[in-house]
Amino acid sequence: MTWEAVIGLEVHARLLTESKLFCGCATSFGAAPNTHVCPVCLAYPGALPVLNRRAVELAIRMAIATDCEVQPRSVFARKNYFYPDLPKGYQISQFERPIGTGGHVENGGMTVRLTRIHIEEDAGKLMHESDRSLVDLNRAGTPLIEIVSEPDLRSASDAAAYFTRLRQILMYTGACDGNMEEGSLRCDANVSLRRPGAPLGTRSEVKNVNSFRYLARAIEFEIERQTAILESGGKIVQETRLFDPAAGETRSMRTKEESHDYRYFPDPDLLTLEIEQSWIESIRGTVPLLPRQRIARYQQDYAISAGDAEVLTADRGIADFFEATAAEAANAKSAANWVRNEVLRVLNDRKTELADYRVTPAMLGRLIRLIDSGAIGGKAAKEVFDEMSESGDQPETIVEKKGLSQVSDPAAIRDAALLVLERNPAQVEQYRAGKIQIFGFLVGQLMKEMRGRANAEMANQVIRELLESPRA
Ligand code: ADP
Ligand code: MG
Ligand code: ZN
Repeated sequence: MTWEAVIGLEVHARLLTESKLFCGCATSFGAAPNTHVCPVCLAYPGALPVLNRRAVELAIRMAIATDCEVQPRSVFARKNYFYPDLPKGYQISQFERPIGTGGHVENGGMTVRLTRIHIEEDAGKLMHESDRSLVDLNRAGTPLIEIVSEPDLRSASDAAAYFTRLRQILMYTGACDGNMEEGSLRCDANVSLRRPGAPLGTRSEVKNVNSFRYLARAIEFEIERQTAILESGGKIVQETRLFDPAAGETRSMRTKEESHDYRYFPDPDLLTLEIEQSWIESIRGTVPLLPRQRIARYQQDYAISAGDAEVLTADRGIADFFEATAAEAANAKSAANWVRNEVLRVLNDRKTELADYRVTPAMLGRLIRLIDSGAIGGKAAKEVFDEMSESGDQPETIVEKKGLSQVSDPAAIRDAALLVLERNPAQVEQYRAGKIQIFGFLVGQLMKEMRGRANAEMANQVIRELLESPRA
C-alpha cells in the first residue's frame, strides 16, 4: 500500500515599504551593518511602536488578490522567545486575529486554500564566524506578511508550482519584490505522510527554504525519509528541520514548539487595527489584473494558446508590454509572437531588464503595422527589429535608412520575373516537364533579383502564373 504526501506551506514575504513596520528606519537591503536602527527597533526601554500604514495597505492588497476576507479588526500580539537576533525578546505578530482569513490560490488545475495572511516583523541577522557571532539589526523590524496554506498540496512539484504562483501574485500586486536571493521571500514546508483517506499524519517542518528547486528537493527528501521510518514501523516526531542544499538533505534542528510555548498576548503598546470598508474598497481598485485572469483573457479575446499566455504573463512587466504592443499594432496574435519570440530572446541574450530596453510597445506595435500593411516583408521586419533593439531608432527611420521597404507593385514584380525566367530556360523546361521542386529555386532567383524586397506572396503568385501560362 502506498503513502500519500500531505504538504502545507508557510510563506514569508517582505513587504515593499521604504520604512520598517513600527519605526521610521529604512528597509534598504545591503547597507553597512547596524546603520538602519533606532530606539524602537533596538528595543530601548520606553520606545513605542507606531504602525506603518503602507505595510497594512500592501498586506490588504495581497489579501484581496488571493480572495481572502480582509478582517475589519485585527490584533498585534507578542510572540515571546529569546534569540540574539531579537532585541525585544518578542516578535510582534498577529496570532489569534490575523488581517486576512480564508482565500485561495489557483495552482494548475487545483485550488490551494489559504488559512490566513498575517502581518509580522522580521528579526535581525546573525553571522557566525569561527570564534564569534555577530548580529546585524538592519533587518530587525522590517515588515513581513506570512501566508499560511491549508495542507492541500500532494507533491513536491505541486508545492513548487504553488510557491511560484504565490511569488507571481506578490510581484504583480507590488507587495513584495520576490527576490529570493536577498531573502525577500522564503518558505517553510510542512510535510507528513498518510494512507490515502486516513487522518493527517505527524508533520515535520523544513524551515527557511529560499528557492523553488530547494523546496522541491527538501520535500522529496522528507517524503523518502518519512517513508523509510514508517515502512520500518517507526513513528515520525514533530520537529523543525533545516535543508542543507550542499548535502541535499534535511537535518533536525529542534523539536517543534507548540504555540502555547510562546505565551502570546495582545501587545499593550498597539491598538486593535481597525480597517474601514472604504479603505479596503479603494485598495481593491489598485489590485492589477492577475496572471490567471490575463491568461483567460488572452485565450478568449486574442486566441492565444495556453502555453504562450503562460509565458507572456509570467512577469507583469512583460504582460503589460505585450498588451500595449497589441493595442498599438491592432494585432494581438502577432504582438504575442513578437514579444514571446523576439523581445524575450533579446532581453535574455543581453541580460537586459525591460526597463532598460530601448524598444517600446509603441515602436514594436508600429513595426507590426508596417508588416500588416505590406510596407515591409517578414525578413526585413526581423532586420528592423534587431536594429531597433540595437539603436533605439524608430522603425520607419530604419526602413527608410536601409531601403527595406517592400515592393508590392505587380508590374515591377512581373518584369523581374520575366527576366528571371528568360535567364533560366533549362530550369523552366524542367519545371514544365514535371520537376515542380524547381519552383522554389525560381522564386528565390526573383527575390534575389529584387534584393529581397519583393512581396513574397506576390512573387510566388507571379512566377506560378508565368510558368503555368501557355508558352508564348
Ligand atoms: P506553525 O507555526 O506551528 O507551523 P501554522 O498554523 O502557522 O503553525 O502552520 C502550519 C502549517 O502546516 C500550515 O501550512 C498547515 O497547512 C500545515 N500542516 C498542518 N498539519 C499538517 C500535516 N499533518 N501535514 C502537513 N502539513 C500540515
Ligand atoms: Mg510553522
Ligand atoms: Zn528603527
